[in-house]
Amino acid sequence: MHNLQMVDLKRQYHKIKSEIDTAVLNVLESTAFINGPDVKHFGAELEAYLGVKHVIPCANGTDALQIALMALGLKPGDEVITASYTYIATVEVVALLRLTPVFVDVDADTFTMNIDSVRAAITPKTKAIIPVHLYGQSVNMAPLLELAKEHNIPVIEDNAQAIGGTYTFPDGTTKKTGSMGIIGCTSFFPSKNLGGYGDGGAIFTNDDALAETLRMIANHGQKTRYYHEMVGCNSRLDSIQAAILRIKLRHLDEYCTARRAAADYYDNAFKNNPKIITPFRAPYSYHVFHQYTLQMKNVDRDMLQIKLAERNIPSMIYYPVPCHKQNMLKDYGSANIVLPVTDRLQDCVISLPIHTELTGEELSYITTNLLEIIA
Ligand SMILES: *Cc1c(COP(=O)(O)O)cnc(C)c1O
Repeated sequence: MHNLQMVDLKRQYHKIKSEIDTAVLNVLESTAFINGPDVKHFGAELEAYLGVKHVIPCANGTDALQIALMALGLKPGDEVITASYTYIATVEVVALLRLTPVFVDVDADTFTMNIDSVRAAITPKTKAIIPVHLYGQSVNMAPLLELAKEHNIPVIEDNAQAIGGTYTFPDGTTKKTGSMGIIGCTSFFPSKNLGGYGDGGAIFTNDDALAETLRMIANHGQKTRYYHEMVGCNSRLDSIQAAILRIKLRHLDEYCTARRAAADYYDNAFKNNPKIITPFRAPYSYHVFHQYTLQMKNVDRDMLQIKLAERNIPSMIYYPVPCHKQNMLKDYGSANIVLPVTDRLQDCVISLPIHTELTGEELSYITTNLLEIIA
């Protein structure tokens, strides 16, 4: 078996090639490269999809998080609670803005922030909480939102890995991930569940005033051209990316279904194996499997990766070093923090290929070989 990839963007492109090529060529012909009509249309279409009032497109997911924090008007030293078990971008923007990241542990089954740890981490200086819907699974939002409300702390959802996913509240209402906090952020990095063909990101909110501030910050702090009200940045979604994303948004639900079907196949093949813990699916979450991540028990993970690679099966460790142990953050003394679940998980997880184009034959090849290797 050749050409197995963690994410197969080429096969996906070829299925929608004529639509995409036409859309891109239209942008070229229009020469509306910056803030062209596709950017506006994509924003409106994403608002409808997510059920939010405002979508502010921007240059990437990291910018989305940075702009969200800037819009809250925080001061240096203000504390932001987030999980250490996330991609570095979630935390990097906190440090970049001279805010203080406060790390909490995750639940061993969902890989998402543990609510008791959040409660214990709240201080009078806590000015934001960033839940991360890791690997495509929603954080348990109801208790988190309640806790945040009790302390009047804004919640910014990092939805870079879970667009298309949903959360069901105890009363049965279902909302899209990213639409529940005061602000939601996402990334359109090519390998994300809704990926462009380059960089891109977006910020969501239902708050009109906040939407205006977010738009201004993303646009050099201006509302009227050349009149700059505040320090902002330059963060735009390309017209070409917007044109591509408009097409891919129409396929997003079907892409989520395809990822879930691949996850079902894996789950079934690995169930009852004493050396493997398959991903937990929280009953409140419609998991969209940005990653399919196993926990291995009593398996030499490095050896497993090497042997998989020998059989042309790629695998990845997301993430080899948790944020609190990154040198980048050593000034925050975070290396001394003990997050037992995060540390333990990071030593035993392995992610397998997951994307929209996996065939039964490929899934069978991957699972059979993995089981053979660890037998
Ligand atoms: C990808 C990602 C980001 C950053 O998105 P970019 O578009 O690469 O800047 C932020 N948070 C999480 C959890 C991500 O997976």
